[in-house]
Amino acid sequence: ILEELKKLEKLKVVSDIAASISHEVRTPLTVIRGFLQLLNEKNVPEEKKHFYIKHSIEELDRAQDIISDYLTFAKPSLENVELLEINEELEYIVNVVTPYATLHNSIISFQTTDELTVVGERQKLHQCLMNIIKNGIESMQNGGELSIRVRKVNENAEIKIKDKGVGMTTEQINRLGTPYYTTKDKGTGLGTMVVFSIIKIMQGTIKVESEIGKGTTFTVTFPSIIQENQY
Ligand code: ADP
Ligand code: MG
Repeated sequence: ILEELKKLEKLKVVSDIAASISHEVRTPLTVIRGFLQLLNEKNVPEEKKHFYIKHSIEELDRAQDIISDYLTFAKPSLENVELLEINEELEYIVNVVTPYATLHNSIISFQTTDELTVVGERQKLHQCLMNIIKNGIESMQNGGELSIRVRKVNENAEIKIKDKGVGMTTEQINRLGTPYYTTKDKGTGLGTMVVFSIIKIMQGTIKVESEIGKGTTFTVTFPSIIQENQY
């Protein structure tokens, strides 16, 4: 019975969040519609065109992120499980989020000391690490460096993501991953919910250390596969 109740509770949260997600996705759509209308006017100056298009793309990306976070939250299972090379995946992720970092006057530094293979779904691993990295970038209001470090700890792949942003109090850290927790104007609070659920299904761990005004470090570990051909 307890299991049944838990399932019902989860369904309720999933449907409540669906309602707020529809709202969250409508906002970027409305903004994009407005920009398209402006672009359609006669004699739009070149720099205005550039501005409208740039912001439309940003809003489209935002709508897309919200939808994929919601889908992962509603159905947090691993589908196409593969062997993933952590360093390769991180290089890809860093490439994808670098324009976002640049937009926020930030730079990403990535260093690794070990080759590590983990089991999981590529797209979910990307989503998980990308959400942590984006939060780190967003936490540095005047820009700064976001550092990513990979190493082997025991039989695990450890990924440390460190920002020099606003930081969090213990209360704020404890609210991470709970529905609707956001401190941002355009936030959803879905990002860390998804981070926690992906780490759980990949049998990983997560640790958060933070100091107000100094920054935050997320330490994520995943069990790694021992490669026999290493010997
Ligand atoms: P969103 O980014 O949409 O607000 P998230 O679930 O990704 O939702 O994050 C929830 C909240 O957790 C953020 O609004 C922010 O207050 C806090 N947070 C998450 N990561 C960091 C970080 N690296 N530094 C400071 N605060 C953070
Ligand atoms: Mg976020």
